[in-house]
Amino acid sequence: MPEATTALLTFDDVEQAAARIRSYVNHTPVMTSRTLNELTGAEVFFKCENFQRVGAFKARGAFNALLRLGDDERSRGVVAFSSGNHAQAVALAARTLGIAATIVMPRDAPPVKKAATLGYGATVVEYDRYTENREEVAAGFVRGAGMTLVPPYDHADIAAGQGTAALELFDEVGELDALFVPVGGGGLLAGSALAASGRSPRTRVYGVEPAAGDDARQSFRSGAIVSIPTPDTIADGAQTQRMGEVTFEVMRRLVTDMLTADDPALVEAMEFFASRMKLIVEPTGCLGLAAVLAAGRELAGQRVGVIVSGGNVDLARFAALISAH
Ligand SMILES: *Cc1c(COP(=O)(O)O)cnc(C)c1O
Repeated sequence: MPEATTALLTFDDVEQAAARIRSYVNHTPVMTSRTLNELTGAEVFFKCENFQRVGAFKARGAFNALLRLGDDERSRGVVAFSSGNHAQAVALAARTLGIAATIVMPRDAPPVKKAATLGYGATVVEYDRYTENREEVAAGFVRGAGMTLVPPYDHADIAAGQGTAALELFDEVGELDALFVPVGGGGLLAGSALAASGRSPRTRVYGVEPAAGDDARQSFRSGAIVSIPTPDTIADGAQTQRMGEVTFEVMRRLVTDMLTADDPALVEAMEFFASRMKLIVEPTGCLGLAAVLAAGRELAGQRVGVIVSGGNVDLARFAALISAH
């Protein structure tokens, strides 16, 4: 990565990221639902990152971070640890830019995720999640081969890149009264809040976490980063134990409040997306809509944005979640 900077992230970083990644990522559609608008009395705009490359917004941050690397760093390759969407995003960005990528994944990660990451041309290194620490495994590649670590959220270039989805939303629909954003480690939330600060400063920005793991809300309330055990939730993209320093700083500065949604509310939102809007959205991607459904008529008369963060859910799992509901 370029030298760590102590300067605070600003709206400019998101705008620069948008220009940098423009030709590498999809400009995703904004969708609406007449049923939801009638239910809430609001005008709700969904930014559909389930249609992003690799099926989630993570491609934005990954391309931004890798495009910022110098020739020397590119030649030594990158390493990331993830079994989810970040792994595939780094693998895709690396292959596109001609950079070697090593992804550290638990040995018991779902075979489809491993296959997808291999399919993008990355080298997958497995570790035992009960006896080994993935950060140490990755650090070994940084020390040994001089690779650059690409973290999933706690990095300025990653957070700025993730903010380009909200930037596109504001550019398409104009100013909003409220914006709802799914939260794991907070990269998407930080980037979205930065985008709002430049394009629509009056927007109330809400982060939405799984109720089983509200570490970001606890951190927001207490003013210090709170760590929790890995939460038990169907929102597998938000099973983080703690926020990052970079993302926490932006949240404190620019976010209005932190909300939660429980698993049944996520399934209800998933069902709404599928039946009413013909959209396949993964459980984590349903956090924003779940919060809007919970708020209901409180949003009447407002213009509301929702970031639909991703659509990567195995169809058998999708069917099982919906039919158990
Ligand atoms: C990673 C991810 C999130 C959470 O993003 P953070 O930047 O870690 O807060 C939300 N939804 C999906 C689909 C993801 O892949």
